[in-house]
Amino acid sequence: LNANQLNFSGGPGALPETVLQQLHTAMLCVPEVGLSILGISHRSEWFAQVVHELEDNIRQLMGLPATTRVLMMQGGATQQFSMLPMNLLRNGQSADYIHSGYWSGKAIHEAEKSGKLQLAWSGKADQFGRLPTDAELQLSTDAAYFHYISNETVEGLQFHRVPGREDVPRICDMSSDLLSAPGEFNRYAMIYAHAQKNIGPAGVTLVILRDDFMHSLPSDLPGFINYHAQADAHSIYNTPPVFAIYSVLLVTRWLRDEIGGLHTIAVRNQAKADCLYQVLDDHADFYRGRAAVADRSKMNVVFNLPSTEIEQAFLQQAREAGFSGLNGHRSIGGIRASIYNGLEFAATEQLAAFMQVFRKSYQ
Ligand code: PMP
Repeated sequence: LNANQLNFSGGPGALPETVLQQLHTAMLCVPEVGLSILGISHRSEWFAQVVHELEDNIRQLMGLPATTRVLMMQGGATQQFSMLPMNLLRNGQSADYIHSGYWSGKAIHEAEKSGKLQLAWSGKADQFGRLPTDAELQLSTDAAYFHYISNETVEGLQFHRVPGREDVPRICDMSSDLLSAPGEFNRYAMIYAHAQKNIGPAGVTLVILRDDFMHSLPSDLPGFINYHAQADAHSIYNTPPVFAIYSVLLVTRWLRDEIGGLHTIAVRNQAKADCLYQVLDDHADFYRGRAAVADRSKMNVVFNLPSTEIEQAFLQQAREAGFSGLNGHRSIGGIRASIYNGLEFAATEQLAAFMQVFRKSYQ
């Protein structure tokens, strides 16, 4: 496997080889246009078609009705952390948030600047080592919305169910697991996810809005933080990241035509996760998984070794063996193997074999 195929980075992460090859060609010349992708106008008919097909592909892959609005926005997931409360907490209403790790902490920190929040649950006392049960969640009936993060990228915690009430708009940051598996996406008022994990390169964020929820949003906010303005312009409100959006289109085509949809990619992702967690389970004294078993992420396998010295040696030897991106997030250290859609099963097999050999050298 080449270096791109052994990239376990937390994001931007590995993209499928065939998509990289098409982007390589497009860099010099998009065949049907005759120009470099970096020099094609966002006002061209071709780019309008790119956006149109991408909106359709997302709805088709996720099983969403044609009335669902699909926006390609800028500012990353971080922009959504603040744009969302700016839109929804203007009238003194409160929102429910789950605090399950580093990124939901950031979302809460931003939302607090715009209004009142109610903490539905916090995993802080448990060092964010697990997710809540339904019985532990404190959900209000009159919240403007309920927000959570489906996959905590830093801690490697993933919800394997849909939490929240059906009568309160459910909003989810799916930045690190959208398009990695099928889901009950119709149960969400809004889903957002930046591209740089499973979906494409950095620079574009998908915002998926259910029709009825879209109608409930204010329309008098400044254009850049106004969902209506963005939707009416079909994501071309100002100059969008043409290259990033085109890359996401290629990833959705790859998922649909080469992989065969979200069910198939989910099987492959499950096999990759099983392959690595098996090593953790077989050698739990050496490879110490961070997440509670029931809440383990299928995207980010996070673990520690018996000492920081051994962790440094692991990272060093892994680099020499051709792996990259295995260092844990700067906030908690340790090791993190991110196994997004673009990474093939063979890469996890190779990493599992490396982990076996590395462990033997210490025992
Ligand atoms: N949410 C999640 C779940 C993330 O993993 C990240 C970044 N890795 C963010 C939000 C922040 O995203 P961005 O840098 O695109 O603003």
